[in-house]
Amino acid sequence: CGIVGYIGHREAYPIVIKGLQRLEYRGYDSAGIALYDGTNIKLSKTKGKVSDLKERIESEISTNGTLGIGHTRWATHGVPNDVNSHPHYSNSGDLVIIHNGIIENYDSLKKELIKRGYTFKSDTDTEVLVNLIEDVKKSENLKLGKAVQIALNQVVGAYAIAVFDKNKPNEIVVARLGSPLAIGIGEDEFFIASDASPFIEYTKNAIYLEDEEMAIVRRGKEVKVRKIKDDALVDPYVQELQL
Ligand code: GLU
Repeated sequence: CGIVGYIGHREAYPIVIKGLQRLEYRGYDSAGIALYDGTNIKLSKTKGKVSDLKERIESEISTNGTLGIGHTRWATHGVPNDVNSHPHYSNSGDLVIIHNGIIENYDSLKKELIKRGYTFKSDTDTEVLVNLIEDVKKSENLKLGKAVQIALNQVVGAYAIAVFDKNKPNEIVVARLGSPLAIGIGEDEFFIASDASPFIEYTKNAIYLEDEEMAIVRRGKEVKVRKIKDDALVDPYVQELQL
């Protein structure tokens, strides 16, 4: 029920794990993190508390990478267990997603994807979404942002998502409909979270996405915000956060 992300010049792990702890109040049954150092993706997830994840991740993987996403899950589709926890990979292993909310038409989308050869490890609606994005991206040879946009236009439901592509180590794509999503703007670094509490100590400048908006967050670039439906560019309002 919470999402956190970081892309910049610092180690993402400490920021993301601390952010997940700040979002614990929202309630959850599982937690997970993916970190990317530009070569390898390191993904760890577990049913249980963020403290369980922390223990697991710190014994399982060396925690480097300046891109990271983290999730606390409140299960809606698929029981709370390790496999159904987020993040989820796409079939190719290139895309990694975290998602809060519900994809209501996941069943028909899943059937279609299975016909197209996709397989599923989890029972989640989220794994359907990441493979839909992959399918759109591959079949139309699109960039991640465009593929996310086209996929979301086929989705009925609610979401806050963050997704990255192994082939694009400098970018995270986020979108929202019905679930909150804030982007913290730092100096050559960006933070993503369900509310500002994970990043308030790093920056006071934030963009709160509106429903049906998506953003491409790129290292060293300005955040690009668009309407998911009609592709119109939005001039985002950068709010100054009060302590
Ligand atoms: N529907 C997704 C799932 O069950 C996301 C739940 C959430 O908001 O944490 O995995």
